[in-house]
Amino acid sequence: MNDQAPTQYGLIYPTINCRAWYANLSVLRWFYSTIARLKFGHGQFPTHLYRLHLIESPACSCGNVKEDINHLFLECDNFTADRKEMLRELSKMKVEFPTNMVQILRHNNINVYRVLMKYIKSTNILI
Ligand SMILES: [Zn+2]
Repeated sequence: MNDQAPTQYGLIYPTINCRAWYANLSVLRWFYSTIARLKFGHGQFPTHLYRLHLIESPACSCGNVKEDINHLFLECDNFTADRKEMLRELSKMKVEFPTNMVQILRHNNINVYRVLMKYIKSTNILI
C-alpha cells in the first residue's frame, strides 16, 4: 500500500472539520459506528483483514481478487438482488450515478446511511 495515497476517509473528507460528521444525527451508537467503519474502510471484510495480516488473501468468495467495500456494495455477484434494491432507493435521493462508496459516503444524509444499513442487514455482510 502506498503510504502517500489518501485514505478512504481522506477521500470522503479532504478537509478537516471540527464537528464530527454524526454531530447532527440522532442515531444510536451502533449505527454511526458502522457508518464510521465504512468511511474508514475498516471492517471484517477481506481487504481490511488482509491489510492487518489476519488472513492470507483479500479475495471475495465470488472469485473477485479484492473484497473491499466498493466490491461488497457495488459489484459483488453474491448480492445482486439486494444491490438492485439499494441502488433503486439511493436513486431517489441525491446520489448521482455512476457512483462509488466514497461518493455515497460523502452524503451526510441519514436516509442514505439507512439505505446502506438496510443493505448490510439484508446481505448479512460483516462490517
Ligand atoms: Zn464478491
